[in-house]
Amino acid sequence: MSHSQVVVIGAGVGGLATAVRLAARGNAVTVLEASDEVGGKLAEHVEAGHRFDRGPSLFTMPELMEELDALVPQDLPGRPAPFRYKTLDRSTHYFWEDEEEPLIAWTDTQRMATDMEQRWGVKAQTVMDHLKGSKDAFDLTRGVFLERSLHERSTYRTGAAWRLLSRIWQLPLLGTMAQLNRRKLRHPKLAQFFNRYATYNGSDPHRAPAMLHVIPHLEHGIGTFLPEEGMRAIPLHLAGLAQSLGVQILTQSPADRILHDGTQVTGVLDKHGVEHPADLVVSNADLHPTYRHLLPDRKSPERILKQERSTSGVIFYWGVRGTHEDLGLHNILFSKDYQAEFASIAQTGSPGEDPTVYINITSKELPKDAPDGHENWFVLMNVSADPSQWGEEAVATLRRQVLAKIQRTLGVRPDIVCEQVLTPGTIESMTGSWRGALYGASSNSTAAAFLRHRNRSTDLRGLYFCGGSVHPGGGIPLCLLGARIVDELAHQDQ
Ligand SMILES: Cc1cc2nc3c(=O)[nH]c(=O)nc-3n(C[C@H](O)[C@H](O)[C@H](O)COP(=O)(O)OP(=O)(O)OC[C@H]3O[C@@H](n4cnc5c(N)ncnc54)[C@H](O)[C@@H]3O)c2cc1C
Repeated sequence: MSHSQVVVIGAGVGGLATAVRLAARGNAVTVLEASDEVGGKLAEHVEAGHRFDRGPSLFTMPELMEELDALVPQDLPGRPAPFRYKTLDRSTHYFWEDEEEPLIAWTDTQRMATDMEQRWGVKAQTVMDHLKGSKDAFDLTRGVFLERSLHERSTYRTGAAWRLLSRIWQLPLLGTMAQLNRRKLRHPKLAQFFNRYATYNGSDPHRAPAMLHVIPHLEHGIGTFLPEEGMRAIPLHLAGLAQSLGVQILTQSPADRILHDGTQVTGVLDKHGVEHPADLVVSNADLHPTYRHLLPDRKSPERILKQERSTSGVIFYWGVRGTHEDLGLHNILFSKDYQAEFASIAQTGSPGEDPTVYINITSKELPKDAPDGHENWFVLMNVSADPSQWGEEAVATLRRQVLAKIQRTLGVRPDIVCEQVLTPGTIESMTGSWRGALYGASSNSTAAAFLRHRNRSTDLRGLYFCGGSVHPGGGIPLCLLGARIVDELAHQDQ
């Protein structure tokens, strides 16, 4: 087996995981990162003693991090200690304006289902059956849709593909996620609870296919977790593993052009004019700038590039004086009319007067993330991926609507001691994510999974793609699975 000279463009979680895998096989790997630090969307902000994870807050499928750890010998000099994380006893505290107490989504699903029965009168068994449906759909599809390239013939000759075909009638293939949840659960709040999972890949439950019902299993079947040093520890750990394997990570080194001889990649030219020779190039940059800026002389896949983007977010990072007993690590303050909220996002870009508000407070689990007597609130609202809509005035309006929503639902006005804001425009400028989308293309159609860009180029030999804008999609677990797919394809090609 020959070894390659590899350049990975981008040190997001997908790029770093790919670098670890390719280096563990003995390839010589360089990572070019445009910004001055690794991690992409998994960045960090510290202000007045409050530490905030700037992007993702929910950590699922930790076994994928363990898999990467296992690739690097324990006694390798400079190797970081194994990745450490906590297993949580609950995922989220859910609030509705007209309900006295929050609903706690316990990891113990029977307990959660019993609480739901007592609260809403829907049989606990109905909830358990719905979760079982999610597990079955996840187990049946993961081997094809998540763990392999959908674009390689070999995928359809695997045992997983045959199993999927033979039991395809068991999958929720018809209708939208919202229709499935309404039909199965027959209670608007319970349906809203399950509809929320469409937002885990930036989609609208009223348009996304019922197949997205695989997502609840990640949280309720596999569980929710938290890295002991916060989410930022994920890219730092991956960078540490990569460096111990000899990967060279060059920050402030934006790639400018992918070089090729017409059929095979030959390297990457960076913005400083330095050429990095390579026979294998992996782009972890968003697919849009990859084609538009890095490969301007190649034909681009217009149909894929024109796909609707996933939602973006406006996020307020608030240092808050005081502690709030009802709130947990993850909190959702639901809007009264979810469908109207998503319609408003589609039409105006904004969730409107009654937004669903997500509040993440890591200091609940990691006390050193905020000074004594304070909390670090990460407050996210779904908005459309359109930077042009989010100027100062629009942000100020949303801020007023969010504070009013918090007041109506929790009966408090947070005592904010420091503040920072992230908008679709700043997400785009900081990470290169086209239009500031959080998860690449949306999954608002049945075809979306098949329209995600392939992981291996059919145009240029030696060119591969990973990260949230390509197959299998956005979110940390999928980006880590994408890295595994790229590594396997590249290995087959060597
Ligand atoms: C606010 C927010 C909340 C989120 N919440 C969650 C969550 O709770 N759970 C979850 O699993 N996921 C969540 N996500 C999604 C998740 O963060 C992403 O899907 C994932 O981090 C994307 O990783 P990636 O590998 O695609 O790289 P990215 O994070 O997109 O990073 C790409 C990297 O490439 C670099 N780059 C771009 N162009 C170039 C170039 N030309 N040269 C060199 N470098 C370049 C960028 O600087 C960047 O560092 C959230 C995202 C955001 C923004």
